[in-house]
Amino acid sequence: MMIGRRTVVCGVLGLLAGSRAASAAPVPEDSVRTRADEPMARAVVVLVVLTDPRRGASAFPDGDVEAIAAELRRVYQVEVRRIAARPLPRSAYYAPRRRYRADTLLTHLAGEIPAELPARTRIVGLTTSDISTSKDNFKDWGVFGLGEVGGTAAMVSNFRLKKKARDAAHATARVVNTAVHELGHVLGLDHCEEPNCVMLDAQGGIRNTDASTGVPGPGCLAELDREVPLRPLAELLARATSAPAQ
Ligand SMILES: [Zn+2]
Ligand SMILES: [Zn+2]
Repeated sequence: MMIGRRTVVCGVLGLLAGSRAASAAPVPEDSVRTRADEPMARAVVVLVVLTDPRRGASAFPDGDVEAIAAELRRVYQVEVRRIAARPLPRSAYYAPRRRYRADTLLTHLAGEIPAELPARTRIVGLTTSDISTSKDNFKDWGVFGLGEVGGTAAMVSNFRLKKKARDAAHATARVVNTAVHELGHVLGLDHCEEPNCVMLDAQGGIRNTDASTGVPGPGCLAELDREVPLRPLAELLARATSAPAQ
């Protein structure tokens, strides 16, 4: 399952859009419907909270889950389905740093997609626990998120995002932006060089971050249309049940 996977370790600052990010709206509402008013979508995306059995009742804020769902729908025109929270798998726990390995979580998440959903359904896991991956010479590098480029799963953690946030709204804006960025990877987008694009990797600088709109730029949107084009939602959902049972 790990063979061929390509994840992108996102520059820490690249994920931090300002709180104004959510207000930019280059994606017109009517783009999600055809002239016949038929609902369209690119893909089905499952949102799931992974709770930490080691940290008691610490749950991902429900308001943030809803904000993420709304923004993923708006930005990517995906069909978002929430499923009930479940515990972080013990297999992903990295005891030396008391956090969870994001790569292991991505593999785990792929198995959490409900069987009745279409074959290419994606999944985004949300957690309050710290997550990490390997980066360059660092065996265990803490990250805000990890997404599998053109794959199935992404993880987002608010552990680091909320630490230096000005207030709750700022923390929410950051976590929403991170989810948009990581799902962008899953939908096939790599880091780009477009000014203000949500897929920018700030590479340690703050300038790109402050200028981010929180949405993909024209280049990434064109790439998105090539990788995961809009199609009628009914057709997308029908694929789950019309597949022959073998
Ligand atoms: Zn990234
Ligand atoms: Zn871009």
